[in-house]
Amino acid sequence: MKRTFECGHSGKGQYCHACAATAKAREDLRHTRNQKRDAKRLAAAAGAVDLSIVDHLGAVQREARELLSKVNCGTHPYALRGKSLKSTSGLILSVPVGRSYRLLFDGPTLAPLRLVSHEDYNTIADNQVAA
Ligand SMILES: [Zn+2]
Repeated sequence: MKRTFECGHSGKGQYCHACAATAKAREDLRHTRNQKRDAKRLAAAAGAVDLSIVDHLGAVQREARELLSKVNCGTHPYALRGKSLKSTSGLILSVPVGRSYRLLFDGPTLAPLRLVSHEDYNTIADNQVAA
């Protein structure tokens, strides 16, 4: 038996299927947009750090991106084998990437700072240059 719903559509059942379909489509679109936004945010977090020094090292670059996205999603650098640089009184955290590189994070905000080679890292850790 057909009936007319409050929205003006007519159909069978307890609720208007036309409006339900519209609402679902809208919800799906919102969901897709959120996913796109999250993906963009992740890319931005990774993009905030110059990874060009490992352009020739695909695996290191992938690992760096993965670490950046983990920290961006709330994993603390300490959970990723990170440690604070003593010379910076914990203001800078470093996470090993591969065997020869380290990602530096701002301690208080956990914002990614830069990717450094082991040599760069040593001079920063020795407080010879700023990060
Ligand atoms: Zn309707």
